[in-house]
Amino acid sequence: MEPKTEADQLRGEVVKGAQEIFLKGLVTVGEGNVSIRIPGRDELLITPTFNHYGKMTEQDVVHLKFDGAQLSKGKRASTEYRLHIAVYQARPRAGCVIHTHSPYASILSIVRKPIPVLMEEMVILLGGGVDVSTFRSAHTDDIGDAAVQALGLTNAVLLANHGAMVCGRTVDHATKMAETVEKMAMLHWGAHLVGTPNVLKDESYRNLLADFEANFSTT
Ligand SMILES: [Zn+2]
Repeated sequence: MEPKTEADQLRGEVVKGAQEIFLKGLVTVGEGNVSIRIPGRDELLITPTFNHYGKMTEQDVVHLKFDGAQLSKGKRASTEYRLHIAVYQARPRAGCVIHTHSPYASILSIVRKPIPVLMEEMVILLGGGVDVSTFRSAHTDDIGDAAVQALGLTNAVLLANHGAMVCGRTVDHATKMAETVEKMAMLHWGAHLVGTPNVLKDESYRNLLADFEANFSTT
């Protein structure tokens, strides 16, 4: 048997992230995608198109160059790969990108309401509130540009009429962020149902930004 390349060794990380977001109910079969950057190279590993999360194996993971060329045989890449590449190119410390169609985040993306800072964990993990990008078709380069623009300095964005996207330094960070975005979207929705949400003011969380910068920022 041939020795495993570095890319092969990282395939398991993509599977781990994919299984986690599936188990947490953030994606269903065929939607969303998980990728990781191959350190030091303009290459990534990404979940395949029409991914069946419950059945996926390391062999299903697709190896791509940043110019879109596929280096692995077998399954084709998710057609949303351009979104991931745009983030890696804009974010030197992003090691993992996760895109979901999680329900509450998608609701807010449809009404195009950003999530303000509702809890301190948003600041520490995400770097602040979650903005909504300009609408762009999912399978174009434009959606990546729009997402990067709306990210600002944060790690999360709502993609207009589509879903959510997060970037983290590691798979563990990014899965936690994807879960946090969905939870905050649900809380924002629920808080509006029972009253007027109290949004945290800038000065009350500014001290947490050093934590974010040290541990979670991808800029
Ligand atoms: Zn999508």
